Amino acid sequence: MTSSEIRQQFLDFFKSKEHHIVPSAPIVVKNDPTLLFTNAGMNQFKDYFLGNRKPAYPRVADTQKCLRVSGKHNDLEEVGVDTYHHTMFEMLGNWSFGDPGNPQAGYFKKEAIAWSWELLTKVFKIDKDRLYVSVFEGDEKEGLPFDEEAYNEWKNWIAEDRIIRGKKKDNFWEMGDTGPCGPCSEIHVDCRTEEERKSMEGKTLVNADHPQVIEIWNNVFMEFNRLKDGTLQKLPARHVDTGMGFERLVRVLQSKTSNYDTDVFTGTIKAIGKIVDKEYDNDDSKTSVAFRVISDHIRAICFTIADGQLPSNTGAGYVVRRILRRAVRYYYSYLDYKQPLLYQLVLFIAGQFQHVFPELKNQQDFVAKVIKEEEEAFLRTLEKGLKRIDDIISKAGSAEIIGGKEAFELYDTYGFPIDLTRLIATENNLAVDETGFEAEMQQQKNRSRQATAIDAGDWTVVNEAERSSFVGYDRLSVQTRIIKYRKV
Ligand code: ATP
Ligand code: MG
Ligand code: MG
Ligand code: MG
Repeated sequence: MTSSEIRQQFLDFFKSKEHHIVPSAPIVVKNDPTLLFTNAGMNQFKDYFLGNRKPAYPRVADTQKCLRVSGKHNDLEEVGVDTYHHTMFEMLGNWSFGDPGNPQAGYFKKEAIAWSWELLTKVFKIDKDRLYVSVFEGDEKEGLPFDEEAYNEWKNWIAEDRIIRGKKKDNFWEMGDTGPCGPCSEIHVDCRTEEERKSMEGKTLVNADHPQVIEIWNNVFMEFNRLKDGTLQKLPARHVDTGMGFERLVRVLQSKTSNYDTDVFTGTIKAIGKIVDKEYDNDDSKTSVAFRVISDHIRAICFTIADGQLPSNTGAGYVVRRILRRAVRYYYSYLDYKQPLLYQLVLFIAGQFQHVFPELKNQQDFVAKVIKEEEEAFLRTLEKGLKRIDDIISKAGSAEIIGGKEAFELYDTYGFPIDLTRLIATENNLAVDETGFEAEMQQQKNRSRQATAIDAGDWTVVNEAERSSFVGYDRLSVQTRIIKYRKV
């Protein structure tokens, strides 16, 4: 089955369960001061859970573009090193928005659990013996009960020794210190070889115990409201919020040991290989990590720009720039390619995703142009910056640390984001004095208040009084930064 067919089957399945299929929200978030990028499928439905808006449909499903490189979820350092954390990924999800006025419309644990089991084992035909689930074990100190209801539902489908009791960290979901929250139930797939399975028989495994046992799906059951004083109230309307990692699901269904060996990534990896004249291997060499990192990062870069966030020096724009510069350093140092590379991949990615996310195809020339200019700018200082950091490292001696002043010099003179300096430091078994770096940054900001004022706005807001959504760039010029909005 191709990845496109898998995505479609997920959506068709929930359509058959009376879900309304909605498009992905933009990966770039504009109307929420607490969030720069969408990091989960539920973000666009937050107001329904909070009771601020009424949902148009009680059941919905979609695939959502997500980015996890800042804030609560930051997977950047895992990417390319492990085989299943991406910067940008698709989160498949199904929701039930409980509506007290129309209780039949929604559903809760019983249906959510039965359907996820049906989809994975009947439609996708995943071997039952390869599945594990987890339920919330409860937390006395916090006054949170064991999720017996979910446990009993799972018992209808799966042997009890495959139902793992998990702690609050993994099995209780909260939006923040107050507000809707509830237990969740994760589904893990055991992708170990038969041999490995035999040699570890009897040991209950979850994701953290083995790199081939991966979490694919999380079912959140929102049933409480946490009040300011910390107490829990039962919510009048209970909701289901699920998220399944699309690339991980494809990996399982295509029987691969790495997300990068699925058809989501093989085309991009091939295209990179052709450009740099090297071959990719599924191993831990620096070259292989570079292939994986670049094939991952290019998607994040393309879709954030296509959704309205240009690379810049502040806020969300700087997140895009950081990802881009990290990718450049990977090809420059490990694929021995010294010219702009990323922009050459844009047309390929746009083609691959044109049916599910046409926004990239519609703006591919502009996106490629922005990326190329960014690459050129960084390549102008990268060589010298790498020489300078080599010099700093060789002089670090027993200190085993890159000082804050040096990290700031790399940032300020050579355009090295702090996470790039940290990455290179780690490769050389050094740490970075990040507190010192922050202090230097602050001093510079104080020196040039004016510059900060100019940088303050990432967005050209056409009319602040009205909600608007990004519909495309106005012309093919990076400098003019004219962005079009549509009222919503
Ligand atoms: P993990 O423990 O693997 O980091 P998570 O518990 O942080 O995952 P959730 O917040 O529960 O993830 O998100 C729901 C699903 O999204 C996960 O079960 C997983 O399949 C997928 N997912 C989460 N983070 C990533 C990522 N960085 N790249 C790809 N898929 C992801
Ligand atoms: Mg995570
Ligand atoms: Mg997890
Ligand atoms: Mg999870």
